[in-house]
Amino acid sequence: MVIVGWIIVACSARWPRRNKSPRYRYKVEVKMLSVEEVVRSNLCLGCGACANLPEVTMKLNERGFARPSRPQVAQSAPQPELEAICSGYSVEQDAVDRPYDDVWGPILDIWTGNSTDAEVRYRGSSGGVLSQIAIDLIESKAVDFVVHTQADPDEPLGNVTSPSFDRKGILAGAGSRYAPSSPLAKLNVYLETGKKFVFIGKPCDVVALRRMARIDPRIDLQVPYMLSFFCAGVPSRFGALAVLKKLEVEAAEVSKFEFRGRGWPGLTRATRFDGSEATMDYNSSWGTVLSRNLQFRCKICPDGTGEFADIVCADAWYGKDGYPDFAERDGRSLVIVRTARGQALLADLTHKGRVELEPLRVGEIELMQPYQRDRKRAVLARLGALVAGRRKLPNYRNLRLSALTWRSNPLWLLKNALGTFRRLPSTPPGS
Ligand SMILES: Cc1cc2nc3c(=O)[nH]c(=O)nc-3n(C[C@H](O)[C@H](O)[C@H](O)COP(=O)(O)OP(=O)(O)OC[C@H]3O[C@@H](n4cnc5c(N)ncnc54)[C@H](O)[C@@H]3O)c2cc1C
Repeated sequence: MVIVGWIIVACSARWPRRNKSPRYRYKVEVKMLSVEEVVRSNLCLGCGACANLPEVTMKLNERGFARPSRPQVAQSAPQPELEAICSGYSVEQDAVDRPYDDVWGPILDIWTGNSTDAEVRYRGSSGGVLSQIAIDLIESKAVDFVVHTQADPDEPLGNVTSPSFDRKGILAGAGSRYAPSSPLAKLNVYLETGKKFVFIGKPCDVVALRRMARIDPRIDLQVPYMLSFFCAGVPSRFGALAVLKKLEVEAAEVSKFEFRGRGWPGLTRATRFDGSEATMDYNSSWGTVLSRNLQFRCKICPDGTGEFADIVCADAWYGKDGYPDFAERDGRSLVIVRTARGQALLADLTHKGRVELEPLRVGEIELMQPYQRDRKRAVLARLGALVAGRRKLPNYRNLRLSALTWRSNPLWLLKNALGTFRRLPSTPPGS
């Protein structure tokens, strides 16, 4: 039984190599992709790229995830550009000009470090490096604003993406928000300003932005830097509500909700209108609540490490007994430089003394990020579960998924495939 299962998974992994046209195998089998089709197929990530197409807006659905929606009358209208931009549907790596690690993606340099500004380091999720880069780009006038995500002032559990023009605005957005965000939903508005901006978003947001740049030349001219962070997946709004329940706080009482930041990793903190606070440590909030409320597409994501960004940051956890140690301490980021442009930018920041960095060897990343080490390896096995469940497949290309599959333990892959099969979301009728 185990051997038969491994053969099935291995065959699904091998197929693209044997077939002259890998695209054929992984292509979602629809004639013309539509937002409805992507949503029905559970491939939507909620990035908001499609909200730049006519009549599409982003809304939280009944399961607490950000999803595109069109008026009923528009739903049969074709969306020829969608296939080109949707990162839920398609992730294709074309970084053939740079060293590429099968697990960690394109790498020019790897560092650990932090902002040298104590406030930025404290407010940041890990070492505040992303916020520091954004602050420096604004203050040096290399860009006019930063597009980033922060708590929605009208809805403290939610997120809003907006432009910031100064240090104060950037620091207001520092810290991870483990809740749905659609950072690309208003991209056209930012592009229409004709100004330059730095974009900070999840790996899937950056994949979509790179894809959009292929068909919209303004993006390469106006978005000189795309920054990202490692991402283990986007929890539903119900994740944050479940945290509140554990904290015994009513949603209506909350004036401010922070998932982390203010220290490393920092507490999850619900502040009531009367100023009182209820808190939970990171291990409890992410580890026991939020990570159990992820959207399905994140579980088959081939890019949790921001392969398409110029610079990507993550937690440079210290280890204890072979596992990351989440004890509170001064923040430290893992920083992977992926492009020459990112390399020049970080060199400039280091030269100015804005960040302090120490080199890291590629083999050391997995000690800090054991979850991400395994995640990409499991993707093909998990896609095997989609095949077995006769679900539509995303189009993943040139990500070395087959190579990783072949180097992985067959039993472990089988466990992943079976686990995914058991948890396949139901597909609404008509899809
Ligand atoms: C959903 C999610 C999953 C994550 N998973 C991992 C992981 O598996 N491993 C890991 O090491 N790190 C993960 N992180 C990232 C990590 O928590 C830190 O953000 C990262 O180390 C960068 O730290 P920093 O101090 O440089 O960032 P900061 O200076 O704090 O800047 C963080 C930036 O991220 C932006 N941001 C925060 N939340 C969102 C969001 N929901 N959508 C879009 N942009 C957002 C902010 O606007 C800000 O610009 C995750 C973050 C999120 C939001």
